[in-house]
Amino acid sequence: MLTSIFLNTIANVSILSMASYILVKLIPKKRHYTLGLKQKLWMIGVSSATSFLLMLFSVDMPQDVKLDLRHVIFILLVYYFGSSIAVPTIFVASLLRFLLGVNSASIRAAAMYAVLALIVPILSKKLTARFNQYAVMVMLNMVFVLASALNLYFLYYDRAAAIAIFFSLLLLSSGVVIIVTLFTEDLRKSFSLYLDEQEHAKMDFLTGLYNVREFNKKWQKIQIDKSIKTTAFIMLDIDHFKWINDNYGHANGNFVLRQLATILKIEAPDNELVYRIGGEEFCLILNDLSYTDQQKVAEQIRAKVAEKEFLLENGNDIQLTVSVGLAASAQNKDMKKLFRLADRCLYDAKNQGRNQVVGSIMETE
Ligand code: GH3
Ligand code: MG
Ligand code: MG
Repeated sequence: MLTSIFLNTIANVSILSMASYILVKLIPKKRHYTLGLKQKLWMIGVSSATSFLLMLFSVDMPQDVKLDLRHVIFILLVYYFGSSIAVPTIFVASLLRFLLGVNSASIRAAAMYAVLALIVPILSKKLTARFNQYAVMVMLNMVFVLASALNLYFLYYDRAAAIAIFFSLLLLSSGVVIIVTLFTEDLRKSFSLYLDEQEHAKMDFLTGLYNVREFNKKWQKIQIDKSIKTTAFIMLDIDHFKWINDNYGHANGNFVLRQLATILKIEAPDNELVYRIGGEEFCLILNDLSYTDQQKVAEQIRAKVAEKEFLLENGNDIQLTVSVGLAASAQNKDMKKLFRLADRCLYDAKNQGRNQVVGSIMETE
């Protein structure tokens, strides 16, 4: 008997750890997401199957009562995914329980879980506002264990047995809940670090703009995005920036680059589409704007930079100008050609005396 309890407990703990791993893995690899119907169904499926597995490794008690840790799955779901996944799982798992016998124990268990399905999500929200995840999970666990012990008491009418079961189940499941929460939190933490790293890899750390790597990815995406009809590149380069570096120092050069980045973010129609593609070269992507509007944006940027007083570290300020190349596409979106055209326009702007915009529309073949 003791060996079987021990083995079943080990099986329950292993199944729970594995299930929490799978559940965390099912979460989309994004910081902000809403689960689609398909993902929800997957989660409900995996969780219900796990509950069933836990039942198969239950400790069997008199009158066909099965003691297992399936409630831990429910509290994990309630806490990490909310009631839209936890509640259906509770109902599916109760139905699966009937596969192992429709009797007074399984009917009572189903009724108990149905009541808890209504109460626990509300309780979880209230507790989450006040306590950390470990405390919340331990308290939710206690609610389930207490309900199970009461359920058993009204089945056996044996107070001593109910109390003994309450304390042993509480002790065991609290330990398991803490382990599984530790495990889940650890996965979530590495996941969050991964997302941070992914975000850092896109950024240019000096200006906070996206870098050339992200720029290359973005135009490849735009090229195949049918919802975007036309695209333009604004490419700009600071005039005589070397002179600024030579006269005021590299640190001031960096300071100026950061201030220019701010102007670009403010003036860009979409501030997510501003990139630092070289030392003092920047590129903006403009989607679905008329050529006149594209020219307006380019001219506005040039003018704003020319009138801005750029601050130096010693409190003085300086003025500078940029040369701007604007390349627009009429219909087709051959982004490589568009990029070359923008580069050529920028080169022309430099040659024609700097501090100006040169624009061109790409020929269609
Ligand atoms: P032009 O008008 O022809 O563009 O003249 P320019 O001096 O701006 O042109 P050039 O491309 O020859 O010089 C760019 C300079 O930008 C050279 C380099 O020292 C400086 N630079 C590149 N990256 C950085 C950076 O991250 N910080 C600073 N401070 N300077 C940079
Ligand atoms: Mg340059
Ligand atoms: Mg330059």
